[in-house]
Amino acid sequence: MESVPELFGSMVFNDARMRERLPRETYEAIQKAIRSGERLPNETAAVCANAMKDWAIEKGATHFTHWFQPMTGITAEKHDSFIKPTEDGRVIMELSGKGLVQGEPDASSFPSGGLRATFEARGYTAWDPTSYAFIKENTLCIPTAFCAYGGEALDKKTPLLRSMQALNRQALRILRLFGDIQTVSVKPTVGPEQEYFLVDRALYEKRRDLRFTGRTLFGAKPPKGQELEDHYFGSIKPRVAAFMQELDTELWKLGVLDKTRHNEVAPSQHELAPIFSTVNIATDHNQLTMEMMQKVALRHGLVCLLHEKPFAGVNGSGKHNNWSLVTSGGVNLLEPGDTPYENAQFLLFLCAVLKAVDEYQDLLRISVATAGNDHRLGANEAPPAVVSVSLGEELTAILTAIEAEAPYDAHELEMIKVGVHVLPRFPKDTTDRNRTSPFAFTGNKFEFRMPGSSLSIAGVNTVLNTITAEALRTFADELENASDFTAALHALIRDTVRAHKRIIFNGNGYDAAWIAEAERRGLLNLPTTPDAMPYFLHAKNIALFTRHRVLSETEMRSRYEILMENYCKVIHIEALTMLDMVNKDVLPAASAYAGKLAADMDKKLAAVPDAACGYETERIRNLSALTDDAYAKAVLLQNAVSASRETQSVGDLAAFCRDTILPAMHALRIAVDEMETLTAKAYWPYPSYSELLFSEE
Ligand code: ADP
Ligand code: MG
Repeated sequence: MESVPELFGSMVFNDARMRERLPRETYEAIQKAIRSGERLPNETAAVCANAMKDWAIEKGATHFTHWFQPMTGITAEKHDSFIKPTEDGRVIMELSGKGLVQGEPDASSFPSGGLRATFEARGYTAWDPTSYAFIKENTLCIPTAFCAYGGEALDKKTPLLRSMQALNRQALRILRLFGDIQTVSVKPTVGPEQEYFLVDRALYEKRRDLRFTGRTLFGAKPPKGQELEDHYFGSIKPRVAAFMQELDTELWKLGVLDKTRHNEVAPSQHELAPIFSTVNIATDHNQLTMEMMQKVALRHGLVCLLHEKPFAGVNGSGKHNNWSLVTSGGVNLLEPGDTPYENAQFLLFLCAVLKAVDEYQDLLRISVATAGNDHRLGANEAPPAVVSVSLGEELTAILTAIEAEAPYDAHELEMIKVGVHVLPRFPKDTTDRNRTSPFAFTGNKFEFRMPGSSLSIAGVNTVLNTITAEALRTFADELENASDFTAALHALIRDTVRAHKRIIFNGNGYDAAWIAEAERRGLLNLPTTPDAMPYFLHAKNIALFTRHRVLSETEMRSRYEILMENYCKVIHIEALTMLDMVNKDVLPAASAYAGKLAADMDKKLAAVPDAACGYETERIRNLSALTDDAYAKAVLLQNAVSASRETQSVGDLAAFCRDTILPAMHALRIAVDEMETLTAKAYWPYPSYSELLFSEE
């Protein structure tokens, strides 16, 4: 086997490969285009395309594709082969410059939220040279953005790239105020920790709920779940270890900095974390990670579940988005520095994030709003649906002292005046004790813990970048006009803490008392997607996205439609799957079992006329009552699904799904799960929770 350094990035047309294979002028022209964001000149594109194709062919590739991230949240690819016919009936292998920089997939079958009605139906993909091309399954994948011909973004990548530009612009204004003339760019860095479940493939195949919806819609509570907490960091089972090993290899080949792996809290649950990278690359890599997890699992007779809540009563899966800001010189702006000035700068960036999170709680909640994640947020495992920031005791004490203009400790009044003398470095363990916070400062970065496991991190980071850019913009406006910079800086930090301290909460986010306290503080509590989504179109949010040119109002309206429609579709599919399972499998199974008990009883009485039949009688009575109940609940659910067709708008439909269909599904599930506990294993049509959760050995 190749060594890891040889393996790493072997399927990526990365910087080293570009240097090696491109003429110097071409390499430099590409670097320039990457830095400036300008379009690549045609000749450069042609030379680069040819070199990429030659390299790809050496690696066994026969096809290429523009790899993009439409609003479905998963990646899309349409493969074209390199072949080009010659006049004498043979073929040559070709990738033109145009083929590299632009593609025209048929846009009409991707969600556009009404954009297609108003604009040109066609869409095009454009190469994002900041993310390297790579080879996956004999296909050269070219990372691209996907837009309509009118320029409207049809994907998740374009707004992310725009938000990076907005953040860069505003962060540089701040750095210049601190006398930094060296830094040429500021970029967000992200390390997404990915949770997932593995279940045995043969068991998975037997459950239509898992196959069609990614989660179990039925399943009685198993005798053993996660109570003993014996799975967390436990030793990894051989089949899982083999899966993880192969996954690492596949991801390393693709240049993904896959670093840590361990078992999670729930049985069969695991986590993988990469080393952080620039956010657009981290986004691409997380998409590849999710795709590879699913593919590699199949090769080991396993299925990887990325759903936020595959099993009721067992922890769901999230994706912790660790986010920070780094300068072109490699300085982490969320790390306390070595001089008072650097520390004042650190505090200013920290305050920008506080202000941003407080003012745009709604957008952060919306950025993680999906039907699947609604099962997780607010349950006793994931952060609540209320957004708050935990800073740790030490940093909170420093901010409190600044706010009160009081010394943080007896000698430090003067130091505080200039924005704090030398701040302690905050070791991870002093800031990270609170695992219940949705948004935690962890020493040199923020960890946003609300995203669900299946979510593309593009949306979350588009919001984080944009709201931070906006806070920095207001800071820069104020400080650029100040006559006394130090005094203005001090006042700004103090006033920002005063205005936004309500968002700081270091306590237990799972505690019911916190929800009441959050309400007293005026923080938003938006438990479900239909509660949260309408905020997206509030004037302040439209002003935000349009001001920073991240999303136009039209694009926002289209995204609102897409997300709401997706919520409704997911719930419809779940409801229909439940009905199908109940009608075709569950009710017949329970009846068959009751019939078998009755037949047993007849036989018994024929042999012994006065035999006691308490067990059979009782079981048949209970099962019959439950079958009737489940049948009635199924009828109610069916009626609810039919009635949903009468709703007028997507908002009404989403509310109907939340208020009528989901409760009807819940009621049906209760009856069915109880039936499961009373039915013999041989008669029950599905693998149980115990089997599913302990199947990966
Ligand atoms: P935990 O599980 O305790 O939250 P991990 O070490 O598993 O911590 O994950 C931390 C994640 O944060 C990793 O993906 C890591 O690369 C990432 N990270 C570390 N520093 C930064 C940074 N400056 N910017 C963004 N992400 C970071
Ligand atoms: Mg974490």
